[in-house]
Amino acid sequence: CGIVGYIGAKNAQEFVIDGLEKLEYRGYDSAGIAVNTGNEKFEIVKKVGKLQNLADELKKNPLSGTVAIGHTRWATHGKPSDENSHPHFNKDKTLVVVHNGIIENYLELKKDLVAKGYEFKSETDTEVVAHLLDELYTGDLLETVKKLSKVIKGAYALGVMSVNEPDRIIAARKESPLIVGLGDGENFIASDIPAILKYTRDVYLIENNEIVEIKKDSVKIMDVEGNEIKRDITHIEWDL
Ligand code: GLU
Repeated sequence: CGIVGYIGAKNAQEFVIDGLEKLEYRGYDSAGIAVNTGNEKFEIVKKVGKLQNLADELKKNPLSGTVAIGHTRWATHGKPSDENSHPHFNKDKTLVVVHNGIIENYLELKKDLVAKGYEFKSETDTEVVAHLLDELYTGDLLETVKKLSKVIKGAYALGVMSVNEPDRIIAARKESPLIVGLGDGENFIASDIPAILKYTRDVYLIENNEIVEIKKDSVKIMDVEGNEIKRDITHIEWDL
């Protein structure tokens, strides 16, 4: 239901949790975060229930890293539980995804992936994306998401990361809201403007069938073929 991602020079988990708090009004049943801490795998923490459960856990065991994505879930496929919470990840936790919406063809995709030996840890539609990323990944996350967007059907806002590409977050949108917040040496993705308004008033409103590459000093919006799309910055005048 809510997505927040941060890439910059500061402590990413704080921006992500703060942003998710600002989206609590939308409703949710669980929350989670993946942080690139510079290790070989992502650190992933997921908690059913209140966002405060996740925030408390992170206070006890902080995850230090300057790039992270987080999610508050409103379950559509699979009960609210720690396992079904996002982010979802591939077998070695090198690829992670957060998702708002519904992957409509997930059952047939899941069948194929299971036949190929992929093991599912959750009951969600979203987890197919994590294993598809694994299957399609050749070292370039942007190329992988372009391919992914031709395979999945349905409604989605996606945020994905590869542990081997710590300099970027890739996001994609189809029928589910997504914005990019433009900071100074840091950038954000979010499913809605309130998440990032404390940090910046300059945003790109992402449209359907667009893929975005977010780095700390640049943002590139593309169509699904990878052709760059020029977007005017929207300056937000209102306050929370
Ligand atoms: N369909 C996904 C799930 O049930 C995402 C739900 C959401 O938008 O929060 O896990």
